[in-house]
Amino acid sequence: MKLAGDRTVGRLVKWLRILGIPCDLIAIKNKDQIPEGVFLLTRASSLASEKSLVLPYEKPADQLRFVLQEFPFLWKELRPFSLCLLCNRRLEKVPKEEVFGLVPDHVYKTQKKFRRCPSCGRLYWPGSHQVLMKRRLEEILGRSLTVDQDGSEGKS
Ligand SMILES: [Zn+2]
Repeated sequence: MKLAGDRTVGRLVKWLRILGIPCDLIAIKNKDQIPEGVFLLTRASSLASEKSLVLPYEKPADQLRFVLQEFPFLWKELRPFSLCLLCNRRLEKVPKEEVFGLVPDHVYKTQKKFRRCPSCGRLYWPGSHQVLMKRRLEEILGRSLTVDQDGSEGKS
């Protein structure tokens, strides 16, 4: 099952990606258009079907809690900061020397681990922004999150 959200839950889609749960953003007009193998998250009650979950909440934080409550197996799939937030693709490790000149000097000097999106090439590294997002997510979810900075390739 692949999760997807429509524009009514755009911020939820972003939070799911931050948590490492792949979620496509799709645009559909009626429930017959929900693609095969896709489970749609939406606020639109007109899209209610056996292949969708209509979220009764307006705030992304409440939506996120609701999704994890409805799909408890997702807790095991949480891999925070392992996806490109734009492309929904799993990030790949990239050796530090390869990002020289591509990231700000102070970042290059202070960071050791870098990852890259295989699709758009955007570079990611753990920074203060990530610390803040992690704290916010832990508040929302009411539990602590483990971040594997070695990324999706596993530890070598
Ligand atoms: Zn990307």
